[in-house]
Amino acid sequence: AVHWSPFVQQYKKHKYPWIQLAGHQGNFRAGPSGSILKKLSPREHKCLKKLMTDILQPFVPQYLGDVEEDGTRYIELEDLLGGFNSPCVMDCKIGTRTYLEEELQKARKTPTVRKDMYKKMCDVDPAEPTQQEHLDMGITKPRYMIWRETISSTSNLGFRIEGIEKGDEEHSFALKKTKTIQQVTDAIQYFTDKNQAILKQYLERLKELRSALLMSPFFAGHEVIGSSLLFVHDSTPKASIWMIDFGKTSALSEGHTLKHCVPWVEGNHEDGYLIGIDNLIGAFDSLLRN
Ligand code: ATP
Ligand code: MG
Ligand code: MG
Repeated sequence: AVHWSPFVQQYKKHKYPWIQLAGHQGNFRAGPSGSILKKLSPREHKCLKKLMTDILQPFVPQYLGDVEEDGTRYIELEDLLGGFNSPCVMDCKIGTRTYLEEELQKARKTPTVRKDMYKKMCDVDPAEPTQQEHLDMGITKPRYMIWRETISSTSNLGFRIEGIEKGDEEHSFALKKTKTIQQVTDAIQYFTDKNQAILKQYLERLKELRSALLMSPFFAGHEVIGSSLLFVHDSTPKASIWMIDFGKTSALSEGHTLKHCVPWVEGNHEDGYLIGIDNLIGAFDSLLRN
């Protein structure tokens, strides 16, 4: 699993190694007590400012302002791990695709045949390349981008687990290839130890988030790509969920809205966000009932 502690964090006199489950190590720094600094991206900056006045505000880390350190601009965010005692953390990337339509278009403009991507594809599934692709020993980037989402649960379930950190043992399943609802449910079972109180709090929070999403002007007017839900719980037991990572979340053109629950067809910009939320609700629900 990709996780590490880029720094030691302090919250109310309490020191703990901060947990980062995704992204580059250099993107985060400790901020003033109880906050963290993330490298500023203009897209994310815009989203967080808007979210502070949206109905989704209780479901995102609080945006505390901008900071410049050593010539780099950072946004200051609430540390969602503050207030937990030795937290377990899971990052789930939501949506049926994790690239923007404009990234696909850009990849189409330079239709070079990529040997590295062909090799990565063969490593996962040697039966996937077509006869022609085998002859070329290469595939195009757009072909790779679309296929890559089918290895994990992204394209079929509308979310995938990016990382799990439980502090204790190392888990053995390969999250990158966790694809079926059964595999995903098994991973969530491992993450929560099937603790009923924790599962209940997560399920309740997911349902509250779903209602807020349906009423949110921000959600209606944005293509939410590559954003995650961060699940955090401890043995108190206390459990909660927040939306994080808005680096690829983009405002639609004026007057346009998305349904978020219909299949993506190139050009419709649909992100499948609610498909992912509903499948997550289904997974937590089934763990509580079985
Ligand atoms: P990528 O785009 O590759 O996913 P990124 O650099 O945009 O990475 P994020 O996805 O925002 O970074 O965050 C990476 C990890 O850092 C998360 O998986 C989570 O573990 C941790 N993290 C991010 N924001 C917070 C926060 N506000 N509080 C606590 N932990 C956080
Ligand atoms: Mg992320
Ligand atoms: Mg990101």
